[in-house]
Amino acid sequence: MRFIHVTCFDDWRAEARALLSNEISPADVHWSPEDNQPGLFDQPHQKKTGETAQDERPNASVQDTQSRFTVPSPFLELARQVACHRSPTRWQLLYQTLWRLVHGERRLLEMTTDDDVLLLQRMRKAVTRDVHKMKAFVRFRKIETDDQSESYIAWHRPDHFIMRLAAPFFQRRFKGMSWTILTSHESAHWDQHQLTYGPGLPASEAPNADALEGLWKTYYASIFNPARIKVDMMKREMPVRHWPTLPEATLIDDLIRDAPARVTEMIKNHEGFSETGMHYLPAQQDLESLRQAVVGCQACDLCHDATQSVFGVGPEDARMVLVGEQPGEREDIAGEPFVGPAGELLNASLRDAGIDRQAVYLTNVVKHFKFERRGKRRLHKKPDSREIYACRPWLESEIAALKPQTVICLGATAAQALLGRDFRLSQQRGHIQKTQWSEQTIATWHPAAILRMPDENRKREMVNQLVTDLKRCAEVVQ
Ligand code: SF4
Repeated sequence: MRFIHVTCFDDWRAEARALLSNEISPADVHWSPEDNQPGLFDQPHQKKTGETAQDERPNASVQDTQSRFTVPSPFLELARQVACHRSPTRWQLLYQTLWRLVHGERRLLEMTTDDDVLLLQRMRKAVTRDVHKMKAFVRFRKIETDDQSESYIAWHRPDHFIMRLAAPFFQRRFKGMSWTILTSHESAHWDQHQLTYGPGLPASEAPNADALEGLWKTYYASIFNPARIKVDMMKREMPVRHWPTLPEATLIDDLIRDAPARVTEMIKNHEGFSETGMHYLPAQQDLESLRQAVVGCQACDLCHDATQSVFGVGPEDARMVLVGEQPGEREDIAGEPFVGPAGELLNASLRDAGIDRQAVYLTNVVKHFKFERRGKRRLHKKPDSREIYACRPWLESEIAALKPQTVICLGATAAQALLGRDFRLSQQRGHIQKTQWSEQTIATWHPAAILRMPDENRKREMVNQLVTDLKRCAEVVQ
């Protein structure tokens, strides 16, 4: 029997490769059952962002130069995630599966009823979910450093050893600030140049309160809609064990009690909170007042490079509202939505569906054109979640002023903005549902996405689907 201790995926991979090369069966190996993740007194294994392990390359297939086996790349991806699971049996299970894969069961991972595969998939799911929770629940607090520069720190309590899976997300998201995330088993530090990992630290090392906390609470209150709150679901999605590290958790009881109007008032009155278009909304929220007020909106950076804001157009009594993503190049110049090539296709589709374009209201989720300059050209760039969030009060106010019977989301951005981030256009297109926005809300293809489709047959099919979806809505409206 061989006794092997490993502390991370790279160690396990090296050991497993050597064992396989020597034809050591899983039954003859005892993997250390202890939790060997780095602790407070361990030497940290430093890894810089520039380093890329062989197993981390997408679609890589590792071939040991001293051995005769190759490992399917899907297994490496799976193993890298399962290695982050807290279970002490994970190393044994991984080696057992690897052994089977290279000993005649090459398609083992496709057998979803196999006990080992089933267990690995469950472990992967738990790890993926934990990474998702970490992305959602990490809250940074500002700290003063010795050299008076700003730095941010967060404490989080994951279920599994997921720091290295989640940290690259924070590096991308908060590239321009220095931060540290602490967990009990490992820490990650980003200094705006390098991502490094260190030992875990106790919760007492994280500061309790600072100025950011107040701002975050206001932000949370602004997105919290007491009218829609479902306490059980909230506890499921925001597990109670994370509440001590979430500043906004202290607000939850009050927010559940408060009326939406009171929350709105709180946001409006909070000085300096100019993160969303809400700060620029006029007192009167009829369409004309909104149209005039949006011209002065500076809630996000898109207003600086675009020619002008592009507000919705259409009659005030429109029963049908079509929502796209953002104005394009032509719309930015004209100051009106859907006037370019995508607008022409939309016009034709509305006509084929028997809908009078003059009777519908057309608008976008984001009111300023986002683009990237390439020489003299301005290439469309997808708005990010921060811009969509900032612009949301304008869209909500438009819909509230119109009170339409039907809202049609054109494309994934509009669908996810109005129907939730989990909405998948490819799977849920054409489903009519009752929402807070209208009696019937539906999502379908954006004409610009159809125009970008290179396959002509697919393009024709998408046009037909767009017309069919529009027709179905028209029938109900009439
Ligand atoms: S995109 Fe929306 S939130 Fe951003 S500046 Fe324009 S109107 Fe304001």
